[in-house]
Amino acid sequence: MAGSSLKYRIQKNREKRAGQFAEEILEAAGLLSLPVDPLALAATEAPRLKVAGGDFKDHFDGLLEYHPKKNKFFLLYNTKYDRPFEDHRPRTRFSIAHELGHFYLEHHRAFLLLDGRSHYSSGEFAVDDRIEREADAFAASLLMPKALIHPLVNQGELTPERIKAIKEQCHTSLTSMAIRSVSCSDYPCDIVAIQNGRVAWRFPSEALIEGKCYPLDKKEALRSKNAQRAWQAFKKEESVEEYGEGPKTDWFRSYGPASRSIIVSEHYMPIPPMNMLLVLLTISEEDLAGFQDEI
Ligand SMILES: [Zn+2]
Repeated sequence: MAGSSLKYRIQKNREKRAGQFAEEILEAAGLLSLPVDPLALAATEAPRLKVAGGDFKDHFDGLLEYHPKKNKFFLLYNTKYDRPFEDHRPRTRFSIAHELGHFYLEHHRAFLLLDGRSHYSSGEFAVDDRIEREADAFAASLLMPKALIHPLVNQGELTPERIKAIKEQCHTSLTSMAIRSVSCSDYPCDIVAIQNGRVAWRFPSEALIEGKCYPLDKKEALRSKNAQRAWQAFKKEESVEEYGEGPKTDWFRSYGPASRSIIVSEHYMPIPPMNMLLVLLTISEEDLAGFQDEI
C-alpha cells in the first residue's frame, strides 16, 4: 500500500513538472496569452520540427517521429474532428499540444532519438501509460496555463458557468477545463465523471484534501440518490437537473457525527458525446472548517 501510494506521488510529481515546464516554454516564447496557439509554439522550433495536419481517419490523433537522416522531427495531427473554415477543434488542439509534450520533454525526445520509431497517440484522456500521462499533463498546462487561469478560476467558489466561460477563452473541451479548473481551484471542490451509472474517475481539489475530505472509493456504488436520478434522466435523453444537494456522506469518507450535517452542492453537466455525466461538487469553506473543528 505504502509502495503504491509512493509510486502515485512520484507520478503526480512528474506530471506536475511536465506542466510547469510547458508554462515556462510558453512564457519564454512570448506566447503566454489566451487562447494559447500550440501551432505558433511549434513554429518557433522550425526547421527542426515540421508540422502538418491531415485527415488520418481513425489511425491516430497525433504522431511525432524522428527522421535521423534529415535530423528532423515530424509532428502530424489528425484534423478529422475539425470543421471546414473553422479554427481547430479543442480535440485537435489537445492532440497537437500532447505531441509537443513528446517533443519538449527531454526523456520523451531521447526515446525517439534512440529508437527512431514513431510515437502514436490517441484519445484525449484515460491513457494509463506513464509517458502518455506526462504528455497529457504537458498539454493541459500548455492550453490552460495556471498563471492565466488561476485568477479566473478563483473569482469565487467554482461554478459550471465559470468553467464554461473559461473554456471559451481557452478553446478547450468542457471536460478538460472542468478537470483543470478544479485542480487550480483554491476552494474545496471535486469533479466526478459518471459513466454506465458508476463513478469512472474523479479529481478532488487540494483544498478538499487539506480539509480532510476524502473521496469515496470509485469501486463503491453511487450513493447519491440525486446523482442516480440525474444519470437515469441523462441515459433516457431527458433533461437533467442542473443542481442538487446531498449529505457529505454521499460522496466522501467522513469521520465523526459533524460530517453528516455538511451539505454538498452538486452541479450536473451532461457530456453526451462521451456518454458521460460530469458532477461538480462544492462544499462551502466555512462548513469544511467547522467540520474540522469538530473531529
Ligand atoms: Zn503520446
